[in-house]
Amino acid sequence: MDVQILGCYGGQLPEKRLTSFLINGNVLIDAGGVTGGLDFEGQKKIDHVVISHAHLDHIKDLPMLADNVIGSRPDPIEVVSAPEVIATLRNHVLNNHVWPDFTVIPTADAPVLRYREEPVRQTFEVAGLTIEFIPVNHPVPTNGMFISDGKSTLLFTADTGPTDEIWARAADYPDLSAVILEISFPNNLADLSLLSGHLSPCHIPEELAKLGRDDIPAYIYHFKPGFEGALIEEVADLNIPHLRPLVQGEHIQV
Ligand SMILES: [Zn+2]
Ligand SMILES: [Zn+2]
Repeated sequence: MDVQILGCYGGQLPEKRLTSFLINGNVLIDAGGVTGGLDFEGQKKIDHVVISHAHLDHIKDLPMLADNVIGSRPDPIEVVSAPEVIATLRNHVLNNHVWPDFTVIPTADAPVLRYREEPVRQTFEVAGLTIEFIPVNHPVPTNGMFISDGKSTLLFTADTGPTDEIWARAADYPDLSAVILEISFPNNLADLSLLSGHLSPCHIPEELAKLGRDDIPAYIYHFKPGFEGALIEEVADLNIPHLRPLVQGEHIQV
C-alpha cells in the first residue's frame, strides 16, 4: 500500500502540518493536515477518513475538507471511528455552532459527510483495506490501528504513552511490514510526555522491545515542531537502525 505523509507533526508551524496520512489516494488516516497538504483534486478523491481520536490536531481539517468538496463529489465522505470519537465530532465540532453539521448538508439523503461507527478489537473493511482499532494510552478515547491490504499490514499506534495491548496484538499480524509510532517532547520533558499521554525518545527502546521486531521499519511521527532539532538528534542517538522519523510529503510503501 502507498502511504503519503501529508503531515506528521504534533504541532503546527508554517510548512509543518499536523497528522494526516493518505493511503492509496482515497483513505485518509486522521485529518490534521489534509486541506493544507493536498490540492483540491486530491481532496475530492478522499472517500473515507479514519480517525484515531478527537484531539484537534487529528481532526482540524475535517470541517474544512467537508466545506471544500461540497457539490464536487457524487457520494458522501465516510468518517470512520469509534463511537466515542464520532460522538465528540457530532456534539462538539460539526454541531451547527462551531461548524455546520455536514451530515445533513446539502440534504440528509445526499450529505457531504456520513458517520460510520466501528467498535474496537474487531476488524472492518474500508475501501479494500482491513482495519482493526486497538485502544491505547492517551487522555481521551484513542485507538491505534492495524491497516491491512491482504499483502501487508501497517501498525499506526496513534498518540499514546507507554502501552501494551497494541504491541501484543501485533503478534497476530504475521504480515506486519511497518510501524508508525509517536514521539512528542524531547527527553528533558519526558515527564511532560508521560503526563500528557505521549512519548519521548528515551521511552522508544522499551516500546519497540514489546513489539520484538527489528526486521521491519519503524517510523516516528508527532514531533512537536519547536523541538524538531533536539528530537531528531535524540532519535539518532538511540542507534536503532530500523527507526527513523517520517518526512512530511514523502510516500512510504508498506
Ligand atoms: Zn496528536
Ligand atoms: Zn492526542
